[in-house]
Amino acid sequence: MLTHAFPSYRGVMFYRCLGCGAEHGTEDLLYTCPRCGAVLLLEDRRFPELLEKGGAYWQDLFDVRAAAKRPALRGIFRFYEITAPVLEEEDILYLGEGNTPLIEASPDLRCLVGRAFAFKNDGQNPSASFKDRGMACAFSYLRAAVRQHGWDDVLTVCASTGDTSAAAALYAAYAGGVIRSVVLLPQGKVTPQQLSQPLGSGALVLELPGVFDDCMRVVEFLAARCRVALLNSKNSWRILGQESYAFETAQALDWKTDKVCVFVPVGNAGNITAVLHGFLKLHDLAVIDALPRIFGIQSHHADPVYRYYAAPETERVFRPVEVTASVAQAAMIGNPVSFPRVRALAERYRAVAGERAFQILQVTEQAVMEGMLTANRHGHTACTQGGECLAGLRAAVAAGLVGEDEYAVLDSTAHALKFIDFQNLYFADAFPREYGVKADPSLVNAPEALFIPEEREGLDDDAFVRESASRIARRLGLTETDGG
Ligand SMILES: *Cc1c(COP(=O)(O)O)cnc(C)c1O
Ligand SMILES: [Zn+2]
Repeated sequence: MLTHAFPSYRGVMFYRCLGCGAEHGTEDLLYTCPRCGAVLLLEDRRFPELLEKGGAYWQDLFDVRAAAKRPALRGIFRFYEITAPVLEEEDILYLGEGNTPLIEASPDLRCLVGRAFAFKNDGQNPSASFKDRGMACAFSYLRAAVRQHGWDDVLTVCASTGDTSAAAALYAAYAGGVIRSVVLLPQGKVTPQQLSQPLGSGALVLELPGVFDDCMRVVEFLAARCRVALLNSKNSWRILGQESYAFETAQALDWKTDKVCVFVPVGNAGNITAVLHGFLKLHDLAVIDALPRIFGIQSHHADPVYRYYAAPETERVFRPVEVTASVAQAAMIGNPVSFPRVRALAERYRAVAGERAFQILQVTEQAVMEGMLTANRHGHTACTQGGECLAGLRAAVAAGLVGEDEYAVLDSTAHALKFIDFQNLYFADAFPREYGVKADPSLVNAPEALFIPEEREGLDDDAFVRESASRIARRLGLTETDGG
């Protein structure tokens, strides 16, 4: 019988190197292969045993578990057996992450875009971005390690375009005890809202001149020399947690992912890695019959993955790019650390579902901003990266890449409020030149003052109310009826 009990299954996890294929045990927290330096992915040696249950078993189990009352099973660990089935219930840290809503585009928006689609709002995670999914898993693993090894001091560090540090600081603040948090940010390259988050969580916030890629090189250098727990997406435990995005998407569609196109913004490429790996797992388990098509989206100001796949297959060479100012600032990365993971998984993905099942599209900064504003004028709460996905869908429709019978799921990776300064710049048509964004007046909005402050002087409250109402009525072209 299926129950809400904490699962009894335990896997045997190991790191697989995507460079030399070596396998390494999980006793130590590894970021790269000790043999060849390449990136890793976590796998479960017992996964083949899970296949024997059949897809329907897993569908039913995950559906029953969607109503679980145990905090440890309410978030990303609803999918415990295919996430990190080595953690004990007491180690699992749950702050309300995951289980984010899939919100269908309204009829007006669907009409405008020409396709049926939905946003999955990962801005509704506790620190308002999808990074919480990965942190919940990485911190649960850390808590297990602290308990097992009796460590008395764990310093977590990460470089960040803003949201990784917000999530890391939040989970570290909750975990407390021996776990401390340091975050490294590119000075002036995160939004004030994002900066306020690790500060509010009490993390030590260190700023460096430069862009994210510079901070990333510094933390990697540091992690290779000092005992720190690196929380960037090189940490494969984060990738595992982020796979829940794919699991939830499939579940919200009642496990029917044929004719589905999933749009994901690509920065450091951890998110698209997790999405590819997650859907591949569900497909291996026969939980879904068909792999959805995956579209990775990049801005023309930070597009190394796009450039790689745009080249003819025989001429593909990965080259980091120098990024320029981007409103999709959380994805403004020129040398994505997870690129080798994407390359390996995309190959597997295309082998199962064909060339068209994995594509990378490029969009303009202008289209990203207009994607965000258009989405939000139709009842969504998309961040700029969510806007990037809508821009990607529109580009895909224009290029004939998405059929009328297909359904798109767009990842709004964070909440609109984190990126609201870009909306402000747009509304004031005040973008610095380097962004290359001009305001379209039809998308601009601004408050209108009904009074200049001095006008209120000398009016008593009744007169103020009457005068205000009459100005509003004039503004709206309302006619006053007697009495009312
Ligand atoms: C981190 C982040 C991204 C980019 O994800 P990667 O895993 O780095 O590709 C996109 N959007 C938001 C809001 C993010 O925080
Ligand atoms: Zn290796």
